[in-house]
Formats: sequence, structure tokens, C-alpha cells
Amino acid sequence: AKIRIYQLAKELGMHNDELLKLLDEMGVAYKSHASTLEDSTAETVKELIGEQRVAEAARRAEEARKAIPHRPPVVVIMGHVDHGKTSLLDYLRKSRIAEKEAGGITQHVGAFEVKTPGGTVVFIDTPGHEAFTTIRARGAKVADIAVIVIAASEGVMPQTKEAIAHAQAAGAKIIFAANKIDLPNADINKVYTDLMQLGIVPVAYGGDYEVIPISARTGQGIDSLLETILLTAELEDLRADPKAEAQGVILEARVDKQAGVLASLLVQQGTLHVGDYVVAGEHWGKLKAMSDSEGTRRSEAGPGSAVQVLGFSELPVAGDTFNWVPDQIAAKEITEERIAERKSLETRPNDGGRARNLADLMRGMQEAERKEINLVLRTDTQGSLEAIQNILERESTDEVKINLLLAAVGAPSESDVLLASTANGAILAFSVNPSGSVKKLAEQKGVPLQSFRIIYELIDEIRKMVKGQKEPVF
Ligand code: GDP
Repeated sequence: AKIRIYQLAKELGMHNDELLKLLDEMGVAYKSHASTLEDSTAETVKELIGEQRVAEAARRAEEARKAIPHRPPVVVIMGHVDHGKTSLLDYLRKSRIAEKEAGGITQHVGAFEVKTPGGTVVFIDTPGHEAFTTIRARGAKVADIAVIVIAASEGVMPQTKEAIAHAQAAGAKIIFAANKIDLPNADINKVYTDLMQLGIVPVAYGGDYEVIPISARTGQGIDSLLETILLTAELEDLRADPKAEAQGVILEARVDKQAGVLASLLVQQGTLHVGDYVVAGEHWGKLKAMSDSEGTRRSEAGPGSAVQVLGFSELPVAGDTFNWVPDQIAAKEITEERIAERKSLETRPNDGGRARNLADLMRGMQEAERKEINLVLRTDTQGSLEAIQNILERESTDEVKINLLLAAVGAPSESDVLLASTANGAILAFSVNPSGSVKKLAEQKGVPLQSFRIIYELIDEIRKMVKGQKEPVF
């Protein structure tokens, strides 16, 4: 049965006039809205309208996104010990105060803002990847950008590689700061070649990675570092809605003898107000007072603000996400639910504290149809490290890619466990023994951790995993 124009208009939810106009544009002849249409014409009309509506919806979504204001980037500073992380943070903190009136006091609230003519940058106030990964391990994403400090007098060191691995696992953009450029033995070219050896190509060599020469002592290059951070942030197009329900991350928490529980919060979305109720993990609080890194009392805190708050009755856990809730009833019910859920998991038979092994990991991968095995590799010597790395590279296939999060000499550390845990990976140790506390953490986090003494046993297990011929048995 041929369809009449008014029938089609009704079917498509349009006015007759709109459809007639479209038919005019298509060059279709008709007498009135009661005329019949060829089947093929009706089909074309439906397709056109469908396309128009999809485009319209996409345009509206993009408009809505663009209506959300930009937010400042959140930056973490990582790198090898003594390469200048603390000095850089100190310099940034000071430069900020210098711009304000002298005599400003600072307060540690877990993060601080640096305002530049080009925009604001929020720095996490704790250097190093441990703090960062502890937060990540609890599932929250905090830092958009990682600045990895490398002393230009020394070049890439073991913890530089760890920092890169952690930043990559967390999906943070990486900017390198070649520090101590004021020293006579500073050698930026060594920093470049060291990075190239890790497969990281600096912009100076036509790659994607910015390496900014700086001195945390003299301040040289730090403006340029800030500019690069803001430029990177611009490309990321970071936005947050100040009107959304407030949400963010607990950066730190401690008990003060006089004040009680003090928690540092990073607001990632929405705006917190004094008097609001929030839940974080199994704890809740009514915000009695808020203050920022300048010690200023705040009545509200929007996206990108770090504030210290008073009002939790118990210590929230650093790294937990917090959420705004409407009132005390909601706060209590949500936290009670979470506590009950944890207790029921703890008492479930056969599941308490059993270490996961690679077989579990494989099963998980198959279920998730994941084609990547994420591994942390730890060995006793540089020689064995390179040998195993080469073999692993060869075992990697198109179907199953072996992805080394970190390959380093030395015993597996607690931070390795957190790294593997964030990437849902495993740790393989060759001729090095993890300490008891590392084993325990791996168990808690459900990270498979396996030690080998014979190279071929290690390779054999990997081979079985990749081929999926046989579940590994430990
Ligand atoms: P961290 O362990 O990475 O936090 O390193 P620190 O910030 O504590 O710095 C280690 C040492 O290097 C300290 O003695 C600093 O004074 C020194 N240092 C840091 N940055 C610079 C720099 O740009 N130039 C020079 N000459 N020394 C620096």
C-alpha cells in the first residue's frame, strides 16, 4: 500500500508543511498533502529525516558539552629521588605567594593552585608516585598531567622509569622537566637519549613528548613548564560543571587533637558548600568549615579547588571518591549499605584472602575479551631483565599482546602491586623475592604475584597464557 504524505508526516512526527517543504527540496512532485508517494521516495524521506535527527542530537550534545566551563588541570609531580620534586613544588608554591601580598600563610590541604596569566594549574602537594598510585588504586583518577622530573645532571634513573609506568597506567599525559639545568654538568642531550632508549621520543627529535629544561633552584624555565602544562590541558579540553552534584577525591585525612577529623578534598565536579553532606567510602560528614591552601575560610569550593574540611566524624580513606548527598538520612543509609556489603563479602566462604593466580587473570581476560596481558617484571640483574624482556617481546602475538607496565631490577615493591592492580595485571619475579608485606598487599589487592628461579619455567607459563592452550597451574 502506498503511503500518503499526511500519513508519512504523522509517522515521522512532523507537520505536513515541513514534509512538503522537504519534498520540494527533493524535487518530488505532488498535488496536496493527500497525494501518495512512491515506496522508494518514502524510504528516502525516512532516511533523510533519520540522518537529520542524528546530526541534530550530536549538535545538541556538543553544544551542551561546550556550555560546561573549562576547569584547571590537576598535575602530579613524580621522578627519581633527589631529582628535585620537592624543590619544584616549593618553587611553585613560593611563586604563587610572592604574587600575593607578603606574609601570606600556607596550609597543607593536599593540593595548591598556581595562577598564571594563561590560566590556573592545580598541583598535588605530595611528590612521588606512591601517593598518586594509592589514590589510583582506589579507583579515582586525580591527575590529568604528570610532570616527571629528571635531573639533567644524572639522566633517567630507576624511579624515573617507575614514574613513567605509573603515569601511563593512570592515563595521565606526561611532560618531562629536565631539572638542575643550572649545574655545569647538566646535559639535556643525555636526558633526550635516555628517554629515546625507553621508546619515548622528545619533541626536539620529532616526537610527542615535551622535555622542558628547568631549574627548581633559580626558577629558570618554570614559566615555560607552566605554559606547556596549560597548552597540554587545552588540547585535553578539560571541563567540569560547577552546577552538577559535587564529587571529587579525598586527598588526605588526619586527626587533629583540637579540631578533630580534618580531610583534604579535591573537588572535581560541582560545587561544595558549607553545610553540605558528603559520603566517602564508608564514612560521611556534614561540612562544618572549609579552608583553602592559603588558609582562607571558604563557604564554597568549585571544580579544581582543594580544601580542607571539618565535619567527618571518622577518618575517610585517602583515594576514596566523595559524593554530595542531600541529607543525613541519605548519608547514613548509603554508608551503612556499604559497610554491610563489605561485611558480607568478607564472610563469604572460600573467598577469604585466597591469592589470585595467573589462571584467574586469564579467565578474567577471556571474559572481558581483553587481548593484553599487563605485567610488571622484576629480576635480579640487568642481564636477566633484558634476556626475559627480549623473550617476552617474541612471545607477544597479534591476538595477545604482552604489555610490560614496568621492567626493573630489584624485588617487587608495594608500589608495583598498586601499579599492577590499577592495570589489572600480574607481577612476575625472577630470582628476587618479594617481602612478606608485598605478598600480603598482593593478596589483598588480588594481584597475581609469581616468583621463578628458572627462566624457562617463567617463559613456559607466559607461553601457555598467550596460547591459551592450557590454564597455568601453580
Ligand atoms: P626530591 O627527592 O626529588 O624531592 O628532590 P629535592 O627537591 O629534595 O632535591 C634534591 C637536592 O637537589 C636538594 O639538595 C636540592 O637543593 C637540589 N636541587 C633541586 N633542584 C635543583 C636545581 O634545579 N638546581 C640545583 N643546583 N640543585 C637542585
